[in-house]
Amino acid sequence: MTVATAAPFPIRDTALEPIADKVLSGGRVTFEEGMTLFNTRDLPALMALADAVRAEKVGGNAYYVHSLRLSQTNVCYVGCTFCGFQRKMDEEGVWDMDLSDVWDYVGRHSHPDLTEIHISSGHHPKRGWDYYLDLTQGLTDRGYQVKAWTAAEIHHFSRIARPKGTTKPLSYREVLSQLKDHGLVAMPGGGAEIFAERVRQKIAAAKVNADGWLEVHRAAHELGIPTNATMLYGHIETLQERLDHMMRLRQLQDEAPGFMSFVPLAFQPDNNPLARELNKTEFTTGVDDLRNLAVARIVLDNFPHIKGYWIMITPELVQVSLSAGVSDVDGTIKDERIAHASGADTDTGMPESDLIRLIQDAGRTPVKRDAIYNELAVHPAA
Ligand code: SF4
Repeated sequence: MTVATAAPFPIRDTALEPIADKVLSGGRVTFEEGMTLFNTRDLPALMALADAVRAEKVGGNAYYVHSLRLSQTNVCYVGCTFCGFQRKMDEEGVWDMDLSDVWDYVGRHSHPDLTEIHISSGHHPKRGWDYYLDLTQGLTDRGYQVKAWTAAEIHHFSRIARPKGTTKPLSYREVLSQLKDHGLVAMPGGGAEIFAERVRQKIAAAKVNADGWLEVHRAAHELGIPTNATMLYGHIETLQERLDHMMRLRQLQDEAPGFMSFVPLAFQPDNNPLARELNKTEFTTGVDDLRNLAVARIVLDNFPHIKGYWIMITPELVQVSLSAGVSDVDGTIKDERIAHASGADTDTGMPESDLIRLIQDAGRTPVKRDAIYNELAVHPAA
């Protein structure tokens, strides 16, 4: 039986009723209520509530970007256990682009509509600070918006960017400020993984810690650099730890606004030490992916967008997720390498026409955006 509520959709789980009423009247969920959302078996009502929140924010629009993923190196010394992408400098399968290689790569993937270059790569133990500034500036000079560098990389840069003759690292703010001066327009939000120290110690012990990640994003927002925020889920984290992650992001967004979208990243179960240790061979389930996206849309009431990352959860599920709180389907991407190194079985890129059709077939209006959500074109269904 369904429950009497102000919600314009049926609710079977009575525990959801007061939360739905609260959310639909503009209230904010508590941690306890967030756990109720995570634990409900009433997925249709959870999705409908998230969809109502999404509609309030963006109406019938769903956003995408014409983008290119640049992973200029897979050399990395950090050793995150979930990562099948990293290589040591002399290991088989390694690549490492110098600047001329990068210009060639971008030239090969160039397209008149390409606006955003999203950089995701390893922490290289030898590259100097100037390389990153020149890379950012060079792409900017070629007319692209550079959305680049995770908070973990900013932490790494702060250690390699020491002014000559000093032993003191640059502050996060100084690193970001220099990158902004060289054209950086936004940050992709990677490296967040799960903030809970229990998990972080097991999956990303050598990476910047949660406080450091949040401090970098606070500094970026204060400098006027908008960012995204990711969360890696579907491995050893608990639902409480997922919710704790979201709550810390919500708090930072209250204190120093600047997040554009929240991007849940589903654990990929191949070719990485964590998958082997857990004996995990299955992808996250569609139910868990949708539940996660819907809870995020309801909890992160101060985030403009929740992103469905089709590379990791498939285009088909992202299409469904447009009715579960998602308002952004990422982009054309063209050459994704990181998730695919850990087992992603989707294509490495998608033509813009397919993205448009994916959105239209879900009953939404595709809006092409740039890296910072300026609207470039609208494609209503014919
Ligand atoms: S996730 Fe990033 S920082 Fe961690 S090992 Fe892989 S490339 Fe390195």
